[in-house]
Amino acid sequence: MPKIKTSRVKYPEGWELIEPTLHELEAKMREAENDPHDGKRKCESLWPIFKIAHQKSRYIYDLYYRRKEISKELYEFCLDQGYADHNLIAKWKKPGYERLCCLQCMQTRDHNFTTTCVCRVPKHLREERVIECVHCGCKGCASGD
Ligand SMILES: [Zn+2]
Ligand SMILES: [Zn+2]
Repeated sequence: MPKIKTSRVKYPEGWELIEPTLHELEAKMREAENDPHDGKRKCESLWPIFKIAHQKSRYIYDLYYRRKEISKELYEFCLDQGYADHNLIAKWKKPGYERLCCLQCMQTRDHNFTTTCVCRVPKHLREERVIECVHCGCKGCASGD
Protein backbone atom coordinates (compact mmCIF):
# COMPACT_ATOMS: atom_id res chain seq x y z
CA MET A 1 0.00 0.00 0.00
CA PRO A 2 1.41 3.40 -0.90
CA LYS A 3 2.28 5.65 1.95
CA ILE A 4 -0.16 8.46 2.54
CA LYS A 5 1.60 11.74 2.09
CA THR A 6 0.64 14.64 4.26
CA SER A 7 -1.47 17.02 2.27
CA ARG A 8 0.43 20.05 3.56
CA VAL A 9 3.52 19.21 1.58
CA LYS A 10 3.38 19.53 -2.17
CA TYR A 11 5.96 17.32 -3.80
CA PRO A 12 7.51 18.81 -6.93
CA GLU A 13 7.78 16.86 -10.14
CA GLY A 14 10.62 14.38 -10.12
CA TRP A 15 10.37 13.71 -6.43
CA GLU A 16 9.48 10.08 -6.99
CA LEU A 17 12.83 9.57 -8.74
CA ILE A 18 14.93 10.71 -5.81
CA GLU A 19 12.67 9.63 -2.98
CA PRO A 20 13.92 6.00 -2.74
CA THR A 21 17.56 7.08 -2.39
CA LEU A 22 16.77 9.74 0.17
CA HIS A 23 14.66 7.35 2.20
CA GLU A 24 17.38 4.75 2.07
CA LEU A 25 19.87 7.28 3.42
CA GLU A 26 17.43 8.37 6.12
CA ALA A 27 16.96 4.77 7.19
CA LYS A 28 20.74 4.38 7.42
CA MET A 29 20.89 7.56 9.44
CA ARG A 30 18.37 6.23 11.95
CA GLU A 31 20.29 3.00 12.17
CA ALA A 32 23.50 4.89 12.90
CA GLU A 33 21.78 7.00 15.53
CA ASN A 34 20.40 3.94 17.29
CA ASP A 35 23.60 1.99 17.07
CA PRO A 36 24.84 1.04 20.55
CA HIS A 37 28.15 2.80 20.89
CA ASP A 38 29.81 0.04 22.90
CA GLY A 39 33.52 0.43 23.08
CA LYS A 40 33.69 3.34 20.69
CA ARG A 41 34.93 6.77 21.57
CA LYS A 42 32.09 9.23 21.74
CA CYS A 43 33.27 11.26 18.78
CA GLU A 44 33.69 8.09 16.74
CA SER A 45 30.09 7.09 17.20
CA LEU A 46 29.06 10.31 15.46
CA TRP A 47 31.16 9.69 12.37
CA PRO A 48 28.63 7.55 10.51
CA ILE A 49 26.00 10.22 11.10
CA PHE A 50 28.20 12.93 9.62
CA LYS A 51 29.03 10.69 6.73
CA ILE A 52 25.42 9.99 5.84
CA ALA A 53 24.44 13.66 6.21
CA HIS A 54 27.26 14.44 3.80
CA GLN A 55 26.05 11.78 1.35
CA LYS A 56 22.55 13.19 1.31
CA SER A 57 23.69 16.73 0.59
CA ARG A 58 26.14 15.47 -2.02
CA TYR A 59 23.48 13.42 -3.75
CA ILE A 60 21.20 16.41 -4.18
CA TYR A 61 24.06 18.73 -5.08
CA ASP A 62 25.27 16.39 -7.82
CA LEU A 63 21.81 15.89 -9.23
CA TYR A 64 21.24 19.59 -9.56
CA TYR A 65 24.64 21.12 -10.31
CA ARG A 66 26.53 18.35 -12.05
CA ARG A 67 24.08 15.93 -13.58
CA LYS A 68 21.37 18.57 -14.01
CA GLU A 69 18.72 15.94 -13.54
CA ILE A 70 16.43 17.72 -11.15
CA SER A 71 14.60 21.01 -11.43
CA LYS A 72 15.40 24.09 -9.41
CA GLU A 73 12.05 23.69 -7.75
CA LEU A 74 12.85 20.17 -6.60
CA TYR A 75 16.34 21.19 -5.53
CA GLU A 76 15.00 24.00 -3.37
CA PHE A 77 12.31 21.74 -2.01
CA CYS A 78 14.99 19.32 -0.80
CA LEU A 79 16.84 22.14 0.95
CA ASP A 80 13.63 23.42 2.53
CA GLN A 81 12.72 19.98 3.76
CA GLY A 82 16.14 19.45 5.26
CA TYR A 83 17.25 16.68 2.90
CA ALA A 84 20.39 18.64 2.15
CA ASP A 85 22.39 21.17 4.09
CA HIS A 86 22.45 24.40 2.14
CA ASN A 87 25.31 25.82 4.23
CA LEU A 88 27.50 22.91 3.24
CA ILE A 89 26.47 23.10 -0.40
CA ALA A 90 27.25 26.82 -0.43
CA LYS A 91 30.82 25.92 0.56
CA TRP A 92 31.19 23.31 -2.18
CA LYS A 93 30.74 26.04 -4.76
CA LYS A 94 33.86 27.81 -3.50
CA PRO A 95 37.31 26.94 -4.82
CA GLY A 96 39.22 24.84 -2.32
CA TYR A 97 36.07 23.58 -0.62
CA GLU A 98 34.69 21.34 -3.34
CA ARG A 99 35.12 18.26 -1.20
CA LEU A 100 34.57 19.72 2.25
CA CYS A 101 33.30 16.97 4.57
CA CYS A 102 31.46 19.01 7.16
CA LEU A 103 31.18 22.58 8.37
CA GLN A 104 32.95 21.87 11.65
CA CYS A 105 36.19 21.06 9.89
CA MET A 106 36.59 24.49 8.35
CA GLN A 107 36.07 26.40 11.57
CA THR A 108 39.22 27.77 13.08
CA ARG A 109 38.19 27.26 16.66
CA ASP A 110 38.06 23.84 18.34
CA HIS A 111 41.20 22.69 16.64
CA ASN A 112 44.51 21.82 18.20
CA PHE A 113 46.48 24.06 15.94
CA THR A 114 44.00 26.92 15.83
CA THR A 115 43.96 26.51 12.09
CA THR A 116 41.38 24.44 10.28
CA CYS A 117 41.07 20.72 10.78
CA VAL A 118 43.86 18.34 9.80
CA CYS A 119 41.61 16.82 7.16
CA ARG A 120 41.68 20.16 5.32
CA VAL A 121 45.46 20.00 4.90
CA PRO A 122 46.48 18.75 1.45
CA LYS A 123 48.13 15.34 1.47
CA HIS A 124 51.56 16.50 0.36
CA LEU A 125 51.73 18.98 3.26
CA ARG A 126 50.68 16.54 5.95
CA GLU A 127 53.19 14.83 8.12
CA GLU A 128 51.07 11.82 8.85
CA ARG A 129 50.03 9.77 5.87
CA VAL A 130 46.90 8.28 7.32
CA ILE A 131 44.59 10.54 9.22
CA GLU A 132 41.15 10.43 10.66
CA CYS A 133 39.81 13.72 11.79
CA VAL A 134 38.17 13.67 15.21
CA HIS A 135 35.10 15.59 14.12
CA CYS A 136 33.67 13.36 11.47
CA GLY A 137 36.26 10.69 10.71
CA CYS A 138 37.21 12.38 7.46
CA LYS A 139 40.35 11.03 5.84
CA GLY A 140 41.15 14.21 3.99
CA CYS A 141 38.92 16.55 2.06
CA ALA A 142 41.31 19.16 0.66
CA SER A 143 40.84 19.80 -3.03
CA GLY A 144 43.29 17.88 -5.16
CA ASP A 145 43.88 15.11 -2.63
ZN1 LIG B 1 37.32 16.73 6.16
ZN1 LIG C 1 38.05 17.25 9.81
